[in-house]
Amino acid sequence: MLKLGNFSSIIVANWKLNGNMEFINQYYQKLVLNPNNCVVICSPSIFLNKLEINNKNLFSGAQDVSIYQEGAFTGELSAKMLDDIKIQFSLVGHSERRQYFNESNEIINLKSKNLIENNVIPIICIGETLEEKENNKTNEVLKKQIKESIPVSSNYENTIIAYEPIWAIGTGLTPSLDEIEEVHKFIKTVNVKLNNYKVLYGGSVKASNSDDINSLNNVDGCLVGGASLKVDEFNSIIS
Ligand code: PEP
Repeated sequence: MLKLGNFSSIIVANWKLNGNMEFINQYYQKLVLNPNNCVVICSPSIFLNKLEINNKNLFSGAQDVSIYQEGAFTGELSAKMLDDIKIQFSLVGHSERRQYFNESNEIINLKSKNLIENNVIPIICIGETLEEKENNKTNEVLKKQIKESIPVSSNYENTIIAYEPIWAIGTGLTPSLDEIEEVHKFIKTVNVKLNNYKVLYGGSVKASNSDDINSLNNVDGCLVGGASLKVDEFNSIIS
């Protein structure tokens, strides 16, 4: 498994349901890497085999994985298959999966466990809704998500956590820098085991705020949705 400790920052692009071969060819021609950072491009699964998979600093990631290992489960993609084509990362439990595909913490736990068993690093997404934030429930919600969705086999070398406040995804809104720093500190102290985990921030990260966010204590990188589709903007986030 890749040594996450070798990188000062981990920047993950989530292309969601976007992209085509022409877009990919142009994107990879223009992408400029930073030798200190780990960049992971999470493309729709049909393109995973077409991307430059494992460069020293550039990796491909899936956006989801099946809870099943193999068998009669039409349309599914297993952790073992990802490993077979040398994919080293997969998002798990993105809020869009939780919201539109009814993914529970238990499902996310099982998917993450399967990934770890197959040497693929799960990037487990957690985050509160606006209502939960306004009712001061953020810590309670995150603690429950952490407790229930991170498998026993997880450790700081085989798992990444992404804190993505749901109300900040795709809205242009972000928590204040102090709030991000405070929540990341909270996540890393929910239990002793989490102290050394890489915790990424996601939610309306763009070129104009990425430096400030990435330089916060306890922020180990970021997960970028919309801004990762514009390669010039993504280049300035990476740099
Ligand atoms: C995301 O979808 O994970 C995300 C962070 O999106 P955006 O950057 O567009 O808010």
